[in-house]
Amino acid sequence: MMHRPEQVSLREVAPRDGLQNEPPVPTGDKIRLLDALSRTGLSRIEAVSFVHPRAVPQMADAAEVWEAAEKHPGIRYSALAPNLKGVQRALDAGFSAIELVVSASDTHNRANVGRGTDESIAELADVVQLAHERLAEVEAIIATSFGCPYEGDVDPARVAGIVDAAAAAGVDRVAFGDTTGMATPRRVNDLLDAVLSGVGTELPMLMHFHDTRGTALANLLTAMDRGVVEFDASVGGLGGCPYAPGASGNVATEEVVHMLHDMGIETGVDLDALLGAAALAQEVVGRELESGVLRAGPRTRLTERP
Ligand code: MG
Repeated sequence: MMHRPEQVSLREVAPRDGLQNEPPVPTGDKIRLLDALSRTGLSRIEAVSFVHPRAVPQMADAAEVWEAAEKHPGIRYSALAPNLKGVQRALDAGFSAIELVVSASDTHNRANVGRGTDESIAELADVVQLAHERLAEVEAIIATSFGCPYEGDVDPARVAGIVDAAAAAGVDRVAFGDTTGMATPRRVNDLLDAVLSGVGTELPMLMHFHDTRGTALANLLTAMDRGVVEFDASVGGLGGCPYAPGASGNVATEEVVHMLHDMGIETGVDLDALLGAAALAQEVVGRELESGVLRAGPRTRLTERP
């Protein structure tokens, strides 16, 4: 008999990951979306990233957005950074949860943050020291954990090695990113086999799936059945795949919530409020989003008979 959790912790990533992969939107719209999400019952939100504005113009107003946004006491807000400088800015802006991204694929890391994977890992200890001095937690996000658009398959043993290095550097948590939607249930199992035999097993683990090839919910269930209870999701599925224009990106939060609640698994999220935020996300980016639950409504919403 499969052991399933009573509760799953979702981190909403639309304000950062979602909007970073869309054409830039006005600061006021970002704040409106962030505030709407803060009122849905979500307990974790990735709010902004502190990256160079030339590399990512979408996040140039990160500090301004965060300054104006509602901060709900029950919500753990986080900021993503590509390097120590970004981490410093995130701490200065008042964040107490920091995510540092490092790609398992060296080619992807160079494309994403302009240096090799080893260089990013070497900086982790400094990031952890700085953050801990400021009483903030650090999560290492391992991008391209399930495959790389430049290198193809990524060896799970390599990802497990990065988890071990991150643990040795003192990070508080670790996340695995399916950056371009290359994961399948088999690859989720292979990755967990490799990681759970390493020394990083004590760290809380989160998985970030993309629905680029339609496997996101299957991957999530597979990981959940192996004991993973933390997942990223993006309202409305906001944020396309950066390597496949027009394709879906992040798994939609309302699709995850809709499925889990029907299975009796709690998320703390009010699905109706979340659908309202998804509709707002759609309005903000000015196009129809790729979410089945947003388009069709929840399965409990009946159609009037003719
Ligand atoms: Mg993503």
